[in-house]
Amino acid sequence: MVQTKTDLMSTIVSLCKRRGFVFQASEIYGGVGNTYDYGPLGVELKRRVKDAWWSRIVTARNDVVGLDSAIIQNPRVWEVSGHVGGFSDPMVDCKKCKGRFRADKLEDARCPEKPSKVPGQCAGELTEPRSFNLMFKTHVGPVEGTGAVAYLRPETAQGIFLNFKNVLESARIKPPFGIAQIGKSFRNEITPGNFVFRTREFEQAEMEFFVPPAENDQWFEYWRKERFEWYVDLGIRRENLRLRDHDSDELAHYSTACSDVEYEYPFGWGELEGIACRTDFDLKRHSEGSGTDLVYFDPQTKEKYTPYVIEPAGGIDRMALTFLIDAYEEEELEKDTRAVLRFHPEIAPTTVAVFPLVKKEGMPEKAHEIEAMLRRSRYSTFYDEKAAIGRRYRRQDEVGTPFCVTIDGDTLEKDVVTVRDRDSMEQVNVAVPELLAWLDEAIRNWKRVR
Ligand code: ATP
Repeated sequence: MVQTKTDLMSTIVSLCKRRGFVFQASEIYGGVGNTYDYGPLGVELKRRVKDAWWSRIVTARNDVVGLDSAIIQNPRVWEVSGHVGGFSDPMVDCKKCKGRFRADKLEDARCPEKPSKVPGQCAGELTEPRSFNLMFKTHVGPVEGTGAVAYLRPETAQGIFLNFKNVLESARIKPPFGIAQIGKSFRNEITPGNFVFRTREFEQAEMEFFVPPAENDQWFEYWRKERFEWYVDLGIRRENLRLRDHDSDELAHYSTACSDVEYEYPFGWGELEGIACRTDFDLKRHSEGSGTDLVYFDPQTKEKYTPYVIEPAGGIDRMALTFLIDAYEEEELEKDTRAVLRFHPEIAPTTVAVFPLVKKEGMPEKAHEIEAMLRRSRYSTFYDEKAAIGRRYRRQDEVGTPFCVTIDGDTLEKDVVTVRDRDSMEQVNVAVPELLAWLDEAIRNWKRVR
């Protein structure tokens, strides 16, 4: 069945709700704009995306360390970083319907009263664009007043810059090195969201890589390629991705270069992750703003300098959505069509489903035993004994479970299970004592089909 792009997006949204990936937040109260909750499978998917990011960027390397900084920092941080003055979108208001829209994205917006029209082309008149700050303001302490104003962080990067000196002194590392962090960021986004592509609270995965200024260009090249390949290695089809270099007029004023890893979403090409050269801007600003010298002194060369920074910054929710969209396929079979999510086994929410062929003859007991063995190792499992075996396979295909293990008469007699592969639908016999090693090998050798 050929899906139109709009169909594909609504298919993904309804699959996410039906199978427990993503729910609308505050649903029973009518929802809250651009905000979602993750259900049991969505949480597993996101956790695996985060683990895959962390393992590639931090654990597998000896030049990047981790950090978990606070969401609410001293409000001076956001004044000095430029966010209080400049982290804003130009907005226009409709004098008739009172709707508010991004002036630079009007063509993507729709008049709430006449959805066939773009705001301004309906009967309403738009105001001149005004700057609208995207940071959420809050108050800390018992007194509501300017003294107690605080902001929810709109990016995780600043927490990293604030701890540059702490990490340098405590972790015994020197440039080139990176500090990575995954955590929630908050932006009062106004434009429609395209599901979890753009939300008001989202998880960011950012890494600031501090380099001697002379090595800036080589590390920028390195990280833009490395980040692109990470997506390909995790199963995203190369033809659906591109690296787009920013034109000079798109660059932030402190940035000398920026490339986006873009994905071709059902609603068009969009940014999945940005890799930016932030120069020494942030460290210098915080040095001046705080009075603490955020420089690096090289004891060998006796050189003192402010490192330049290369920043790969992506959103975990946007990554999870991208993995979902790219993995989804409706495959025509001889008799029917099956919906399948071809996730890389490393990010599939459930790695192995375990089924007794029938609900009798000791098979459920044996299946529970095998499931417990898999669960105790690193695999997430799902036990299912309801419905015909073919239906159970299809249910797992739809949530992207790469392997289904069936316990039958041979298991009881010869200690052998049937493993069914999600992608090829082929079945092989595997001896139970070899099952863990067999799965490890299959995961290591997994290749995206189609
Ligand atoms: P966009 O142009 O889409 O608004 P941005 O350029 O403002 O994104 P950055 O500030 O570079 O984004 O943030 C880094 C990453 O964080 C983005 O590539 C994206 O994956 C993610 N991200 C940013 N804003 C949101 C949001 N509102 N919802 C979900 N993810 C987001």
